[in-house]
Amino acid sequence: MGISNLRRGWFICAALALVALAASVGCRSDEAKGGATAVNQSNSNQPASNKAAAKAEKLPTTMPPLTAEERHVIKDKGTESPFTGKYWDKFTPGVYICRNCGQPLYLSSGKFKSDCGWPSFDEEIPGAVKRQPDADGRRTEIVCAHCGAHLGHVFTGEQLTAKDTRHCVNSISISLVQTTAAPEEAIFAGGCFWGVEHYFREVPGVLGVASGYIGGTVAYPTYEQVCSGKTGHAEAVRVIYDPALVTYEKLARVFFETHDPTQLNGQGPDIGTNYRSAVFYLNDDQKKTTEKLIGILKAKGFNVVTQVVAAKPFYLAEDYHQDYLTRHPERHACQVRVPRFDEKK
Ligand SMILES: [Zn+2]
Repeated sequence: MGISNLRRGWFICAALALVALAASVGCRSDEAKGGATAVNQSNSNQPASNKAAAKAEKLPTTMPPLTAEERHVIKDKGTESPFTGKYWDKFTPGVYICRNCGQPLYLSSGKFKSDCGWPSFDEEIPGAVKRQPDADGRRTEIVCAHCGAHLGHVFTGEQLTAKDTRHCVNSISISLVQTTAAPEEAIFAGGCFWGVEHYFREVPGVLGVASGYIGGTVAYPTYEQVCSGKTGHAEAVRVIYDPALVTYEKLARVFFETHDPTQLNGQGPDIGTNYRSAVFYLNDDQKKTTEKLIGILKAKGFNVVTQVVAAKPFYLAEDYHQDYLTRHPERHACQVRVPRFDEKK
C-alpha cells in the first residue's frame, strides 16, 4: 500500500469526516486500495421508473456456466462451422460481450458484412481484445483480454473496410446485449475511479461502467505500476451507453460535476498524474462537446485544467476495483456532487 493510497482514503472522506467518526465507520486506509471512496446518492431523487429502466439496461456482470459446445471453442480453441452461429448475419444494435466473463468486447457499430460465415468486426472496444500468435504459426489469435476466452482470429490486408481489419469471431464466444440505438463509449479520468465509476452507474441509459487505466506507455498495467507514476496512466472509467437514452453531453456534465476539474494532476491530497483530470475522446463530436463545456465552466470563472486528448486503449483494472462501492455497502457516502452548470440536460 503506497503513500498515495493513504492520502486517497483521507481525501475522499474529508468532506464528511465528522459523520464518519460519529458513525465509527472510519474511511480508513485498511482496504486493498487503502481507503474508502464514499459517494453521495446524488440521484436518489430519480423517479422510480427511471431507476428500474436503468437497471434493466445494464450489461450482465456474471455469465452462466459454459456448455460443452461453448467450452470446446472458448477453452479448447475450437472453431464453429461457418454460417451456423447466431450472429454471423445479425446486425441489430447492441454490445457483444464475452460469453465466458461478460466483459464488453465489440460494439455493433464495428460489425460488418463479410460473407465469411462468422461475425466480423473491424474494430474492438480498445483494450478489450488481446492479439497473440496462433499455435499454427501463421495466424493471429484473438482472445478476451480479461479472461483469455478464445474468440477467433484477426486478419488485415483484405481491404474489406476502411480500417482494413477483420476480427473473425465465433458466435459461440460472444453474447449480444441488444440496445435501442447503436451503443457508444466514453472515457473519463477524474481521480479515484471507485467514486467516478459509482456516479456513472447511476445514470439512466448507461449500460455498463468499468474502472481501468489509460494514457500510459505500458499495455495492461497493474495497479501498482500505475500508482508508481512511472507508466503515465490515469485512473479512468469507461462508460458504455445507449445514445437514445443519454447523451454524451449529459455524461460529460456528470463528469465535470463529480470531481474537481480545476486541480492539476491530483484530486485533493491524491497527488500524481495518475489522478489527473482528463477526457479521452473517441471522436470529434465528443471532443467538441467537451471543449464546449470547458468553455462554459471557464466563463463561470473555473480555471479548468482538464486534459482533452484522443483516446488510447483502456485497460481494465483488477477485478477487486470493479464496482467497488456496490460490493462494499458498508462504506458510507462522503463524496459530494457539485453543480457547476446552470441548466440540466
Ligand atoms: Zn472474457
